[in-house]
Amino acid sequence: MAPTLSNEILLKAANEFSTPLYVYDEERIHFQYSKLSHAFRKSDVKIFYACKALSNINVLRILQQLGSGIDCVSLNEVQFALKAGFQSNKIIFTPNSVSIDDYKEAVDLKVNINIDNLDILQQFGNIYGNSYPVVVRINPHIMAGGNIKISTGHVDSKFGVSINQVSQILDIKKQTGVVIKGLHLHTGSEIKDLEVFINGLQLMLELSKQFDDLSVIDLGGGFKVPYKPDEKGSNVEELGAKLAEMLDAFKASTNKTFQIWFEPGKFLVSEAGYFLTKANVIKENPTRNFVGVDSGFNHLIRPMFYDAYHIITNISNPKGPVKTYNVVGNICETDTFAWDRELHEVNPGDILLFNNAGAYGFEMSSRFNSRARPAEVLVNKGQLKLIRRRETLEDLLQGQIL
Ligand SMILES: *Cc1c(COP(=O)(O)O)cnc(C)c1O
Repeated sequence: MAPTLSNEILLKAANEFSTPLYVYDEERIHFQYSKLSHAFRKSDVKIFYACKALSNINVLRILQQLGSGIDCVSLNEVQFALKAGFQSNKIIFTPNSVSIDDYKEAVDLKVNINIDNLDILQQFGNIYGNSYPVVVRINPHIMAGGNIKISTGHVDSKFGVSINQVSQILDIKKQTGVVIKGLHLHTGSEIKDLEVFINGLQLMLELSKQFDDLSVIDLGGGFKVPYKPDEKGSNVEELGAKLAEMLDAFKASTNKTFQIWFEPGKFLVSEAGYFLTKANVIKENPTRNFVGVDSGFNHLIRPMFYDAYHIITNISNPKGPVKTYNVVGNICETDTFAWDRELHEVNPGDILLFNNAGAYGFEMSSRFNSRARPAEVLVNKGQLKLIRRRETLEDLLQGQIL
């Protein structure tokens, strides 16, 4: 059974550290990592945590100690990873729309480099020739993902080199000598359908026949986690069995084999995270009941940005009569966390819990409306540890030149 935090400990955290508050369960991160790594044959698969989901260094350390690698989309994330103790060969740098200067810095840091366009591949090849093998991101023209904003592998997506332009990759390889050690694809987030990964691997295995130095196929991240009560997450065990079968068949016919890399973000941390807010205002309008909480899309943007659904519970009054509310934030524009949601009756001061807030929660928070960002707490076997203090007015003013 997947570990979850009790309402009791969450209320304790809210009491001790105040709200709004992010709380992460270390045991659940262990559980998710173990579930994923056991789904695949160890010899085939390496896991690189996509740290843009949640990059607090304390969380990175947990994954580092579990043996995970790490996927970084910016140089600052690479620096976080190094600070957390990841060895450079366990770090992937997967940026897009950055200049060659960022890649040069990544070379100096000796991390794995993933190149996402022909122009940079050419420049990189001109500078480094065959001295620094790279991975190239392919756009497979597959539509996948829970929402257009998080779909990254379709024909009109900005990501990767179009699968129709592979001949140009080969031209650059021939001309500059650049060594292409891997092919990468990441088609999106919240991929329900395992076929997306299976078709992706099939495509990459076909493509691999045109590349002589290839040792890695990186299938990206995007495993689905359940947000709604009736949803199911990706069946990673089924995927693991299917991948093993495909790799074996490929080996039997070509005598070639590859290391498969995955870059899960959400899968490893989403369900480990809880967001706690306090009801400030109850407003019973003629058409709707509103609960106004002490937070907003500045702290959890997923509902407004992705139309995401988070389960919300009133953990202060778990037995109260059920009423229907719109749960709204305190930002000065439409700022709705949930529409027409059934909650046990909410009174001012009650703590509302948002589930599944570990991924892209704190990480996408901002200081909009000049409100400070929340604190973060890590729970390990009942022990609460503050891992980021709440911001203050001084933090908000810092950096402004008066
Ligand atoms: C965002 C991202 C991921 C992680 O996606 P999840 O949906 O959180 O698993 C993996 N790889 C790349 C390149 C990404 O941009």
